[in-house]
Amino acid sequence: MSGANPATGGRRKVLVVYGTRPEAIKLAPVVWALRARPERFAVAVCCSGQHRELLAGLAPALALAPDRELDLMRPGAGLNELFSRLLIGLDGEIAAAAPDWVVVQGDTSTTLAGALAAFHRGVPVAHVEAGLRTKDLARPFPEEANRQLVDRLSTLLFAPTEGACAALAAEGISGAGVEVTGNTGIDTLLRVVSSLPAGPPRADVLVTVHRRESFGAPLEGILAGVRDLATGFPGSRFLLPVHPNPEVAPRVVAALAGVPNVELVPPLEYPALVAALRDSRFVLTDSGGLQEEAPALGKPVLVLREVTERPEGVALGVARLVGSARGRIVAEGARLLSDEAAYRAMARVELPYGDGRAAERIADRLAVEGDG
Ligand code: UDP
Repeated sequence: MSGANPATGGRRKVLVVYGTRPEAIKLAPVVWALRARPERFAVAVCCSGQHRELLAGLAPALALAPDRELDLMRPGAGLNELFSRLLIGLDGEIAAAAPDWVVVQGDTSTTLAGALAAFHRGVPVAHVEAGLRTKDLARPFPEEANRQLVDRLSTLLFAPTEGACAALAAEGISGAGVEVTGNTGIDTLLRVVSSLPAGPPRADVLVTVHRRESFGAPLEGILAGVRDLATGFPGSRFLLPVHPNPEVAPRVVAALAGVPNVELVPPLEYPALVAALRDSRFVLTDSGGLQEEAPALGKPVLVLREVTERPEGVALGVARLVGSARGRIVAEGARLLSDEAAYRAMARVELPYGDGRAAERIADRLAVEGDG
């Protein structure tokens, strides 16, 4: 099933499926690594269009040049409608492409729909970023369920860290199909940051917020905390690329638009985001990817969540879980802005999530997989 494919001259046909911004960022180096071995792989890329708006602004450097772009999103569609559309749409793509492997990344509806559609068609799944867990199905929602289900369906599981590998083993998923590769997001980050020109710092504090489980009261707490912090430190500049989600953008604008040292901007192209991160003092975020990227550039992260599936940064002391309570955000932020010793203790370059060579390991593994 996963050996040499006669339809592609003996090359292995790999269908890479993605749909959102973080998937594009983290699958880009995998696609580059596979395409760099044309004698070994016939690569097809399919975009589900789940985050069409955010994908459009990712920057040409990250263009995956998908062979197929689906138009499956409908305004106001709930998770079940979205998932059913994705499942049916991706099933058709898998049937038409007849790949030897389907590669998915992360924990989105596209990830799960791609994995399930492949599973139903008997096509083995390779999951990039396997084994991330909070063990709380409500946080992050629905991503924690998506991760657990995708890992259960996958034949190859590329765990970013030893901790992720151990989390899989604790669920009875172990053996030759699991490989610790590092996180491919670090591959992309290191490649992009090395090509950026030096520039004047754009802001002292980079802020992002978008998680579904933050909607409502937690988001209001976060935004009030950011407002108080910015007001208390008028000499510090805050930069907040506003996520377009309709549950998020109007709330952010209502809470922060009038604060003079808070700059609200549309989502940044990835290289611009990386430059802002590189030139910042620290990060306030509920994003998964930024929790991985910030330590790689020596930037402390205050995580605006109660739990994280990325405990490595917290264990190393370069990230802190501060939750969504206004007072805690202000206290922790103020400490990093005013206590130089406390700041220095957290501002260390650490690479717990990857060394920049994850995608090469994944391509190496796919190249030999199925060979007797
Ligand atoms: N990002 C970006 N532009 C922005 C905000 C974030 O390119 O304006 C990048 C960020 O560096 C990270 C990824 O998008 O690599 C994170 O995406 P998101 O926060 O949507 O998802 P998560 O990481 O929480 O899954």
